[in-house]
Parts: sequence; structure tokens; C-alpha cells
Amino acid sequence: MLKTEDAGRTAHSNKPRVHVLTQMMTQSTSTDGNGARPLRTPQGGAASGPMPQRDPAPTTGGPSRPSCHARGRGRRVTGTTTTRKIKALMRPRTNRDDYHTLSREQQVNLIRLRTGHNRLNAHMNRKFKLAPSPTCACGQEDQTAEHILQRCPLLDEERKEVWPSPTPLQTKLYGSRQELEKTTTFITSAGLIV
Ligand SMILES: [Zn+2]
Repeated sequence: MLKTEDAGRTAHSNKPRVHVLTQMMTQSTSTDGNGARPLRTPQGGAASGPMPQRDPAPTTGGPSRPSCHARGRGRRVTGTTTTRKIKALMRPRTNRDDYHTLSREQQVNLIRLRTGHNRLNAHMNRKFKLAPSPTCACGQEDQTAEHILQRCPLLDEERKEVWPSPTPLQTKLYGSRQELEKTTTFITSAGLIV
């Protein structure tokens, strides 16, 4: 009985102690917050400083709170970005680039021609040193996508079959689906491995 009573007393006595401790903690935190401000603003170290600083304490406490809100906002921003991404993925694709309508093989050839990351001599020699020379077999220029599509004399016949009239490189690489298919057809008909 005595033990239980003691325990009850201690429990009852602990409760107010806890309240007091929490109050002390809140006061100490508030005082610490006030104490930290003069450190941040050395001008506020004057005796009259603490009183006006206590008034803006909620405002300065505001920035601390907004920091918490800012964290929440950051999480919300990430949430909104993820929702935006999800919405963007759910959205029907607007095929501005007809590249997406081509077959896989056509896409591979076309993207290699667009980016220059291909197996033509210019890239294989300068990037990987796997070709003895960057020059085309015609000997006139480096074997690049532009040279092959536009100027290589060894491919004049295939080029005229696909493009009877002069066509800019931009159209050949970024034109409509028909233009892109012409480009891939030219590559296959020329027997090139890009
Ligand atoms: Zn050439």
C-alpha cells in the first residue's frame, strides 16, 4: 500500500513537474530565441533592444515558422512536381516530332545521324580511335552525317533517287514523317551502317 501510495504521490507529483518542465522549456526556448537574435544582429545587443525584439519575436518566430512551412512547401512542391510529371505522362503524347512514329530501326538510325554518335569515320576515329581516318572514302571530307546526306559524291545516285531536288539537312533530319523515312531509306539503300 505504501509503495502504491508513494508511486501515486510520485506520479501525481511528476505531472506538475512535467508541466513545469514543459513551461520552463518553452520559456527557455523563447529566451534562447531572444538570446540568439542579438547574436545575429549585434546592434540589438543594447539594453533597449530586447524589448522591441520581443515584440517582433513572433515575427522573427515567424521566419522560424515559415522555415517549417517552407519545408512543408518544399514537400508540397515536390508533390506538385510529381503530380505534374504524372499528369504529363497521362497526357496523350503530342507527336510534334514524327521521329516517334518511325519504327525502332528507323529511330535508331535517325537519332544516330542527329546526334553524331554513330559509326561513321569521323566519330569512330576522333571519339574511339577505332577508324584509321575520319575522312570519308571519297577523300573529300570527314565522313559525317551531313557529308553523307548532302555532299558525298560516292552516294550521288542514291541521293538523287531519294531526293531528286536539293533538300536541306534540317528537313532530312527533322522534317515530316515522309522526310524522315526518306532519310532512313537513303541510309539502307546506300548500304551504310550508322
Ligand atoms: Zn564522302
